[in-house]
Amino acid sequence: MVQLQVNSSDVKYTENYIETNYEYHTSHVRRHGDKIVVDPQVTSLKIRTNRNVPRLGVMLVGWGGNNGSTLTAALEANRRKLEWRTRTGVQTANWFGSITQASTVFIGSDESGKDVYVPMNELVPMVHPDSIAVDGWDISSVNLGDAMRRAKVLDVNLQDQLYSDLSKLKPRPSIYDADFIAANQSERADNTIPGTKYEQFEQIRKDIRDFKNKSGVDKVIVLWTANTERFCDVKPGLNTTTNELVKSLKENRSEISPSTIFAMASIAEGCTYINGSPQNTFVPGVIEMAEQHKVHIAGDDFKSGQTKLKSVLVDFLVGAGIKPVSIVSYNHLGNNDGKNLSAPKQFRSKEISKSNVVDDMVDSNDILYKPNEHPDHVVVIKYVPYVGDSKRAMDEYTSEIMMGGHNTLVIHNTCEDSLLATPLILDLVILGELCSRIEIKRNEAETEWVSFKSVLSLLSYLCKAPLVPKGAQVVNSLFRQRAAIENVLRACIGLPPNSHLALEQRFD
Ligand code: NAD
Repeated sequence: MVQLQVNSSDVKYTENYIETNYEYHTSHVRRHGDKIVVDPQVTSLKIRTNRNVPRLGVMLVGWGGNNGSTLTAALEANRRKLEWRTRTGVQTANWFGSITQASTVFIGSDESGKDVYVPMNELVPMVHPDSIAVDGWDISSVNLGDAMRRAKVLDVNLQDQLYSDLSKLKPRPSIYDADFIAANQSERADNTIPGTKYEQFEQIRKDIRDFKNKSGVDKVIVLWTANTERFCDVKPGLNTTTNELVKSLKENRSEISPSTIFAMASIAEGCTYINGSPQNTFVPGVIEMAEQHKVHIAGDDFKSGQTKLKSVLVDFLVGAGIKPVSIVSYNHLGNNDGKNLSAPKQFRSKEISKSNVVDDMVDSNDILYKPNEHPDHVVVIKYVPYVGDSKRAMDEYTSEIMMGGHNTLVIHNTCEDSLLATPLILDLVILGELCSRIEIKRNEAETEWVSFKSVLSLLSYLCKAPLVPKGAQVVNSLFRQRAAIENVLRACIGLPPNSHLALEQRFD
C-alpha cells in the first residue's frame, strides 16, 4: 500500500478529516454579439474529507441476475484471494475494469523528471471491497450459488470454489409489476412482495433496516441492477413533485414503477440510490424527495462497453477536427438482459439511453456542425441466446475528413457483458460512498459545511445517460468525466487539477 502525504501548509491531516485550503480557478464567459469576453475567477474554498471509512453494505435490486451474482462472487473471490485453473494457466481473482481498484492517477514528477502515479484508491480513504457486505432483492427466488451457475459468466472451476458459500445467500422478495419489465420475465417471478404499492414501499424500507441491523454496517447504498423497465409517464398530478408522488403511491396508481418505489424507500431510509439501468426511475418527484432528505442519487445505466468506446471515439474524432456524420451500432447478446430487451418498450428505454451520448461533443464544435446538426445515429439490439453473456457490439463510424474525403472506422467488440459491468458497480458504490464524506465551505464567513448536491454528477464516468443537477451541463466525454473524478480527488488533498502543462520540462 502506498503512503501518500501532501506536504503543504494548506493541507491539514486531523484525526477525523483531511482539510485543505483550495484556490478554485474558473473562467466566466460573456458573449457580446460575435465578441466573447472571458473573466478568470478564483474562489477560495475549504475542502474536507472525512477519514473515517464506514463499514458499507450494498443492497442490489436484481441480486440474482448476471451482474448481481457476478459482483457477489467477485467480492468473495477477491476476499479469499482465490485462484483457479483455466485452459491457459492459473488465474487469480482481480478487479480489472474498476477505476478505484485497478487504475492509477498521475500525481507529479520526481527529481529525475519521471512521472509518478499512485492507485486511485490511495488518494483519499475509500471503502475496501473486501469489507463490503452484500444483500438484496430479486423476483426470482434462486439462491446466489445457483444464480451464479445460471448466469454462466465465471469459469466453472471458480464457480465450484464459491458455490457452497454463495448458495447460502437468498434474495429477499421483490416488487414485481408485469407491466414494467418484459412479459418474457414472468416465469422468473416466484419471489414477490404482495400488497399495494405503499405496502411494498414500507416492506422495502423494513428490509433496508433489517439488513442494517443484522449486518452491523454503518451505511447502506441501494443499487438497481434489475431488468430494464419501460419508461413511465411523467405528468402533473402523478409524479412531478414529492407530494404528488407520495399521494400517487398511497392511491396505488399504476404508473408508479417498481424502481421508483425502490428509490423512494431508499431515500426515505437516508440511503444513496444508484440506477444502473436506463429507465426513468428519477421522475421529478424522486429528485425533489432526494433533495428534501439530503440523500444522494446517481444514474442512469452502466456505461460498460459500446457506449464507453463511443464516448471516447467521438471525443477523439471531434477533438481532432474530424466530422462524424454517421454512427451505426449493432449489438447482439444472449443473456437474460438481452431477452428482456427484446421486448419493444424495454428496448426503447435502452435506445433512449444510448442515443444522446454524443450530443455534448457535437455541440462543442461549431466549425464542424451547424446549430442543431447531428450525425445520423442508429442503435440496434438483437437477442441471440447462443452467445449468452458474451456480447457482440459492431459499430461503424463514418466521418468527413479534409476536402470531402471520408474515413470509416469499423469496430467489433466481443466481451463478457457482466465482467465489464461488475467493476462499475463496485466503483459506483465506492465513489458514491466517498462523495458523502466530502464537504466544502465557500468562504470563511460560511459556518456550514456543504455536501455534494443530491444528484451526483461526478459518477457520470460510470453512466451511459448521466443524471445531472438541474441547470448543469451533461458531460458524456469519457476523458472529461475521468478528469473530473481525478481532479476532485486531487482537490481533496490540496493538489491543483492535472494541467499537463509540464512547463518545467518544456522551457530552458
Ligand atoms: P439479468 O437479467 O441477468 O439480471 C436482472 C435480475 O433482475 C434478474 O435476476 C431478475 O430476476 C431481476 N429482476 C427483474 N425485475 C426485478 C424487480 N422488480 N425487483 C428485483 N429483481 C428484479 O441482467 P444483468 O445482465 O444482470 O443486467 C442488469 C441490468 O443492468 C439490466 O437492466 C441491464 O440493462 C443493465 N445494464 C447492464 C450492463 C452490462 O451488463 N454490461 C450495462 C448497462 C446496463
